[in-house]
Amino acid sequence: MAIACILDKRRIWLQQQLHQQQILQEQQQDLLDNLLHQFRNPLTALRTFGKLLVKRLQPESANGDVAVSIVRESDRLQELLQKFDEVIDLTPEDLVSLKLPQTNEVFVEAKVEKQRESPLLLPGIGEKAIDCNLLDILEPLLLSARAIAQERGIQLIAETHPNLALVRVNKKALTEVLNNIIDNALKYTPSGGKILIQTGQKKANFQGIKISDTGPGIPTEDLEHIGERYYRGVQAQTTIPGTGLGLAIAKQLIEQMEGEIEIFSPAMDSSITSSTPGTTFIIWLPLKRSEGVDS
Ligand code: ATP
Ligand code: MG
Repeated sequence: MAIACILDKRRIWLQQQLHQQQILQEQQQDLLDNLLHQFRNPLTALRTFGKLLVKRLQPESANGDVAVSIVRESDRLQELLQKFDEVIDLTPEDLVSLKLPQTNEVFVEAKVEKQRESPLLLPGIGEKAIDCNLLDILEPLLLSARAIAQERGIQLIAETHPNLALVRVNKKALTEVLNNIIDNALKYTPSGGKILIQTGQKKANFQGIKISDTGPGIPTEDLEHIGERYYRGVQAQTTIPGTGLGLAIAKQLIEQMEGEIEIFSPAMDSSITSSTPGTTFIIWLPLKRSEGVDS
């Protein structure tokens, strides 16, 4: 009887250890996914800058080799990233079924979901929100977005206002959010299409930045799932690569800044029209406290 009792206690202890290990592994997977995802944006920008440099340098330039090497090395990095993507493509279900006996699945999943609410390791997490000018964050991003758009034959129109009210944001986190949404516009808009980026949208206590494109749009049945981790909707059937993490990361970062993301498809902007529905994202950022309407 006593031995049975000890064995039972030991079994429970081992089960708890296993659950704990599973939670840690899931968290580690989330952190790795996020970091790898954010790695892709600067790499695409670097590769495009390298290509532009190759084009712009005179053939006899002594710097020609350097520019070619930048492109070559970034191609290598992209290949390596492709390998990481294959690992990321494993769904959480794949991972759970790989690691857990079926009987424990429900209990562990509930615990894992709870743990996932904790802040993920992303640029800017843990840093304080400060009052800043949106243009200071947006302008460097526009530099690389313009280069990428040019290379892909997309027209990028930026309508920015110089005297915007200050917003209270976490700068690094907002950079990641804008990067992910602009990256989507660049990725899903086919060559010949347009992207319109406008600052100065207004509603009580918020200032908005609007990003519209003339891409394929997002079907109504996908809209309610957009922002769920790994959800790609109709785009999962296409050859356009992606992990379905960009907007989930953006949503989480924006929620932490007490801002909002709105998605519209068909796009809202009549100034850029096309035969495809297009998509509009509005990112609402909290105004500096004293600039808010009711403060
Ligand atoms: P990645 O993790 O590499 O960003 P992704 O672009 O597929 O992959 P998200 O950025 O999270 O993932 O976007 C989720 C889904 O939302 C996309 O797969 C696509 O179906 C849809 N989507 C997002 N932005 C656009 C857009 N501008 N035009 C059309 N569809 C879009
Ligand atoms: Mg994306």
